[in-house]
Amino acid sequence: MNLNEEIHHKLISKGASIVGFADLKNVSYQIRNDLRYGIVIGIKLNPKVIKKINPGPSLDYYNEYDHVNERLNEIGDYTELLLKSKGYDAFSKSQKNIFIDQNTKRTDLPHKTVATRAGLGWIGKCALLITDQFGAAIRLTTVLTNAEIKVGSPINSSKCGECEECKKICPAEAVRGYNWDINLERDTFFEALKCRDKIIERGEKLKLREAMCGLCIYICPWTQKYLKNIGD
Ligand code: SF4
Ligand code: SF4
Repeated sequence: MNLNEEIHHKLISKGASIVGFADLKNVSYQIRNDLRYGIVIGIKLNPKVIKKINPGPSLDYYNEYDHVNERLNEIGDYTELLLKSKGYDAFSKSQKNIFIDQNTKRTDLPHKTVATRAGLGWIGKCALLITDQFGAAIRLTTVLTNAEIKVGSPINSSKCGECEECKKICPAEAVRGYNWDINLERDTFFEALKCRDKIIERGEKLKLREAMCGLCIYICPWTQKYLKNIGD
């Protein structure tokens, strides 16, 4: 078993739904901690909960979101320790190690960027990672490392095509409707601050600690395909 296979096997047995390997050499070394590779780990959201997001976020969705985030933090930290035990350098970008500028909703190295470099999916018109298997119903974390892993083929353009479902459903009008590609800045196709204000409003209505919405996750045809495959 090579290193990729060992990591993949161990992370899936720990509860990961998807694991990808990315070469980050084209990303500035400061924001990847001078570590060339990224291991991106995804956990799918419970389809039963996602089915009930429309028309609004539920307490179940909040609990699922919280639970999956916690699991991702644990699996990311486990991966860091695993790599270090083999003599490599590694850094888990779990929630405690991430800074999100709330004025711009930006972070230095989004997990979804690493996921596109690993070939796990593309960035949808709603600025979420869209995967073939789970649509947008997935949450992610990243572990940076200098271990020379075999990397996936990057995805550089969108598979959204003419679809505008997320644009139509978005109550914030945050989705402008342009297809992403690797050279397009997020702000060109997505108004993150409009989304931020709307999800705060929707989270407050439910008296949740987190700002939440999730309509664009639910409506995406790729998510719907995942929900249908699972059944009731
Ligand atoms: S989370 Fe809600 S407000 Fe934000 S882009 Fe998606 S649908 Fe719009
Ligand atoms: S709903 Fe359609 S446009 Fe939006 S991310 Fe999904 S496939 Fe792309």
